[in-house]
Formats: sequence, C-alpha cells, structure tokens
Amino acid sequence: MKCVVFLLLFVQLAWVSCQAQTSQSKTEKKTTMSETKKTENPVYSKTDSTKVNLSEEEWKKILPSDVYNIARQKGTERPWTSKFEKFEEVGTYYCAACGNPLFKSDTKFDSGCGWPSFYEPISKGSIIYTPDNSHGMQRTEVQCGRCKAHLGHVFEDGPPPTGLRYCINGVILDFEKAKETEKKFNEKKG
Ligand SMILES: [Zn+2]
Repeated sequence: MKCVVFLLLFVQLAWVSCQAQTSQSKTEKKTTMSETKKTENPVYSKTDSTKVNLSEEEWKKILPSDVYNIARQKGTERPWTSKFEKFEEVGTYYCAACGNPLFKSDTKFDSGCGWPSFYEPISKGSIIYTPDNSHGMQRTEVQCGRCKAHLGHVFEDGPPPTGLRYCINGVILDFEKAKETEKKFNEKKG
C-alpha cells in the first residue's frame, strides 16, 4: 500500500514539473516572438516622440494582424478577452503599434465593461480625440497621439478626478512593468 502511495506521489510530482516546464517554454516563446515583432517595426520607440506617418501598406507589413485590425481598421476586440482587463501590475501602457506612452497603471480602474479602462492619459498629447458617429452612436474615438492608431473610445461615466472612462482595446496596449525604484517612489507618493 505504501508503495502505491509513493508511486502516485511520484507520478504527480513528475506531472506538475512537466506542466511547469511547458508553461515556461510557452512564455519564453511568446517573449521571443514579440521581440522579433518589435525589431521588425522600424517606428517602434518608447522615447522618440516624432509623429509617425506610414501608409496602410507599410503598417500592414510591420504590425501583427490582430494589432493591425484594431489600430488601422478601427476594429474592436471581443469584450473580456484582454489579459489587461483584470491586470493590476504597476507600470506603463504603451501603444503597441509605435511605442508611444499612453497610460499609467495608477489611472487604470475596474469599469466592468469588458475592456481595459483608464480615467486619464499619461499626457495631453499622448492621445487624439475624434468624433465618431458610426454604428448609430455619438461617441468620441481615441487615437494614439503619435501614430494615430485607433485605441478605443472615451466616455463621460468614469470615476473622479476626471469623470472619464477611456475604454481601450487590450490588443493595442504594450505593458512595461515599473522598475523597483519607480515602484517604491509611487508607493511613497500614494
Ligand atoms: Zn501609436
């Protein structure tokens, strides 16, 4: 009997470590893939604020198809599908098409609408506002201030201090975790 228990334990352990390895190799693969994607994108920069003006053809070549669909064709990802919808890491959200800083994690809130939501952009110039009367609705479209990628919409039912809700497609967001020192600084501030 004891022997069986040990055997079961062993099998379970082996299975668990195997699982851990698979998920690790999966994340490794993902990182490499997105890194390749970014080196192929000549306009992607987190520091260069020069406006980006590429043709649709050029965008199509450098963006992954899901990002292209949202950014250039004003697509909308299905609600509740973004990994950023319920995501509470401290850091900065950048435009996935060009690297422009868009939002800080401390302005992110749980709106329950199914898309990542923020109440304030990182700076005034980081976003462009355009009236959008499509689909029989009067909405305000928000676009990246650097490359004009479609990000989502802004609504006036957000929390204080702005009362705004920036409802953003997670596909068009790139997240970078805050460095330890920055995190500590923010904690002190808060
Ligand atoms: Zn952009």
